[in-house]
Amino acid sequence: MSERVITCVGCPMGCRLRVTLEGGRVTEVDGAGCGRGAVYARQECVCPVRMVSSLARVRGRRAPLSVKTARPIPKEAIFEVVREIHGLCVTPPVRLGDVVIKDVCGTNVDVVATMDVASGCAHGGAFVERQGQELKGGRRSGIP
Ligand code: SF4
Repeated sequence: MSERVITCVGCPMGCRLRVTLEGGRVTEVDGAGCGRGAVYARQECVCPVRMVSSLARVRGRRAPLSVKTARPIPKEAIFEVVREIHGLCVTPPVRLGDVVIKDVCGTNVDVVATMDVASGCAHGGAFVERQGQELKGGRRSGIP
């Protein structure tokens, strides 16, 4: 039997949860101000997940594209997913909600754009040429 103390992020109350685990399973949760605390504790202690937000390069632009995972991904996949996003170079136009990486790193979660980028070259394309970035086939989808 082991015990962990974690902070629930379900709302601004930030309840401190005392979680008892036995054999990798949550058997008791104390300190939750509502029912969501126990759900969060089970998720966090057994299979923690996180949303990931990052920036991707945009062909012909200095300004990057803001992206995020469409759903939380397993915590242990975060660094691999960020590496995948940083290796990406998307071609405008991009619309908010476009899938820029489908099933990122086999997580069954897509990475989507969180902003629009209009077509046309605003900054002369110097950024991408300097960086030598190339689109890799099959790494993006949903972008015309
Ligand atoms: S247990 Fe309930 S009240 Fe407490 S932080 Fe989580 S969601 Fe908020």
